[in-house]
Amino acid sequence: MAKRVARVLIEADEVQAFVKRIAEEINRDYAGKKVMLICVLKGAFIFLGDLIRYLDVDCEVDFMAVSSYEGVKSTGVVRILKDLDSDISGKHVIVVEDIVDTGLTLDHLTNLLSTRGPASIRVCTAFDKPSRRKVDTAVDYIGRSIPDEFIVGYGLDFDEYYRNLPYVAVLEDVPAEELDEQ
Ligand code: 5GP
Repeated sequence: MAKRVARVLIEADEVQAFVKRIAEEINRDYAGKKVMLICVLKGAFIFLGDLIRYLDVDCEVDFMAVSSYEGVKSTGVVRILKDLDSDISGKHVIVVEDIVDTGLTLDHLTNLLSTRGPASIRVCTAFDKPSRRKVDTAVDYIGRSIPDEFIVGYGLDFDEYYRNLPYVAVLEDVPAEELDEQ
């Protein structure tokens, strides 16, 4: 079986509207302060890119890549594939995520970052699946809550594809031969 886009769940203009709304909230909450945005790769790279263009607070950007250890996903233990380049001690950190699902990755990440002495730490996510939550982890800024469906687009992938879609979509299975014919 192969995959193809079955339907659009969130149109591109709706995505841009919530990105702008979150940026306004951050501008208000951090007025007069400097922030350190931590983009969780790869999924959040487009969200971060859009978000910072609406921010008028002074901000630094750094990147981190994490992945769940195979076989122990339920513990939420994450492996750091790429660590930050910068020291976050004394800084106002905002973690920028693509989607919070069980919350295990985020919980582990924020616990880890808190040990590095930031002045404050908040979390911002483009998408949220509250019905899937396994751990009560704080999420301060949420773009859109979605039902329990696997989404792609706006930075989120299936097998590394579909990140480039400006909207958010749900996939469906299709016999591989059908796609070969196109
Ligand atoms: P959690 O630890 O919250 O269960 O997992 C979060 C990570 O799982 C996200 O950062 C993302 O990489 C992946 N993920 C969860 N739900 C989806 C989804 O609907 N679509 C895609 N493409 N990735 C997802």
